[in-house]
Amino acid sequence: VETTIMPDAPSAREVLHRVFGYESFRGDQQAIVEHVGVGGDAIVLMPTGGGKSLCYQIPSLLRPGTGIVVSPLIALMHDQVEALRAVGVRAEFLNSTQSRDERDGVERAYLAGELDLLYIAPERLSSEQTKRFLERGRIALFAIDEAHCVSQWGHDFRPDYLSLGELAERWPDVPRIALTATATAATHREIAERLSLRDARNFVSSFDRPNIQYRIVSKNEVRKQLLEFIRTEGRQGGDGPPSAGIVYALSRNTVEKTAEYLRANGVDALAYHAGLESSERARVQSRFLREDGVVIVATIAFGMGIDKPDVRFVAHIDLPKSVEGYYQETGRAGRDGEPSVAWLAYGLNDVVQQRRMIDESPGDLAHRRRLSAHLDAMLALCETVGCRRVDLLRYFGEESTPCGNCDTCLVPPEVWDGTVPAQKLLSTVVRLKRERNQQFGAGHLIDILRGNETPRVRQHGHDALATWGIGADLTDQQWRGVIRQLLAAGLLATHGEYGTLVITEASGEVLSGVRTVSLRTETGWVTRVKAARP
Ligand code: ADP
Ligand code: ZN
Repeated sequence: VETTIMPDAPSAREVLHRVFGYESFRGDQQAIVEHVGVGGDAIVLMPTGGGKSLCYQIPSLLRPGTGIVVSPLIALMHDQVEALRAVGVRAEFLNSTQSRDERDGVERAYLAGELDLLYIAPERLSSEQTKRFLERGRIALFAIDEAHCVSQWGHDFRPDYLSLGELAERWPDVPRIALTATATAATHREIAERLSLRDARNFVSSFDRPNIQYRIVSKNEVRKQLLEFIRTEGRQGGDGPPSAGIVYALSRNTVEKTAEYLRANGVDALAYHAGLESSERARVQSRFLREDGVVIVATIAFGMGIDKPDVRFVAHIDLPKSVEGYYQETGRAGRDGEPSVAWLAYGLNDVVQQRRMIDESPGDLAHRRRLSAHLDAMLALCETVGCRRVDLLRYFGEESTPCGNCDTCLVPPEVWDGTVPAQKLLSTVVRLKRERNQQFGAGHLIDILRGNETPRVRQHGHDALATWGIGADLTDQQWRGVIRQLLAAGLLATHGEYGTLVITEASGEVLSGVRTVSLRTETGWVTRVKAARP
């Protein structure tokens, strides 16, 4: 192992001051920089905004040779390199957006030992040609950014990451540092295994982001709810100029429509998704980074690695597929440490739709089970009556006490005894199945329970059912809330391509009265949270 630091090398702290202009290291940064600086391997789990970049940038400056940074985010390499150059670091990147001439220039600089940092896309690094080229120069370290991309079961899998394990054999003396903001034990294990980092030192930071307020609301007219949220909360100091924010949705279509709607209502909103021309994506990104108060409506393609410290809110208008994804996305708010909000609206349709997507997803049963477990964890977070932060941190293996700042802490959710409505609903499902061998989705079941005489009800003669009209005491929206919560609790399940509702093993306990059902009150609490804010 190479332990030499350049003879006249400055200390890590000097580099921090002189090059980056910062007073002191944060959290584990110093320990990581020192460990990698003397040739140690490291796995770094640090939340978004925690300051991962310095953990490999400073050791690259301290060690002889060039730090090779593997990053999947070609779109961002340019910005990262620019920012480094602006402070006098000799940084370059190699990717497919460059001309042959540009690449030649970068390669010459590397071979001449004139580069401190070189950013490379994973697909490029996995080619034999690139490896042979790198062998002709001197490498200070390998930094593998967004290392969770190596996890086949994770939410960001990139096949090219699998070949990065080979770097260990080819360059046994070059230290490697893998970094990610995804912190579950499973991802951690996979990184260690697949990147041959079993003997690396592990640096696991706290994942708490105390300045972010988590709020999860029940979805009814989501665009209006979003607009209301942006109008009341998306302003600096409450009534100042608009703040920058990111709105996440799952489909391109929703992204486009939502951006249009917000624009029509006076919000400076721009759409961002993988279907846009790359020049348009670059334009959107650059407006977001350089101007104030721009709101980006995006699919998850947006935001990975974007360093904008003053994003005041992250809103989700579709249910994220996993807690990992949700936490990483919400982590893009408030990197400057100022109060910020993570706002999520979710409803019954999210649950039905995502269950269906899982049922239809390619891959084996184990894979679908894993997706399903991801979704269940997300639903549990949404429906919790305890502190959101406690739940989130526990998911990442950290125990904590109620934060006093999330929606459920500020306004403990009112619960009501939903046992009887649950029994009404479940027995309707059972009867339809037993007596007529039929299954239906939420909408039609609600029509039966509320006694709505729709054409479909008449067509099936469902007004003759014993449970017809027995649920008229609840509104349509309240029923949707009951169904959503029963689904989240595993007391009801969806089935097949239309997401029809079926009972589960646990439903029997509710039907027989052995188990009671406690549900959150649906309406009114959004406004109450606002009123309770300091
Ligand atoms: P990550 O990659 O973990 O999301 P970054 O490396 O982009 O985080 O850092 C997040 C922000 O914090 C950046 O604006 C960065 O310049 C700043 N930062 C990082 N380390 C320090 C430090 N020691 N002192 C002050 N600011 C820092
Ligand atoms: Zn809380």
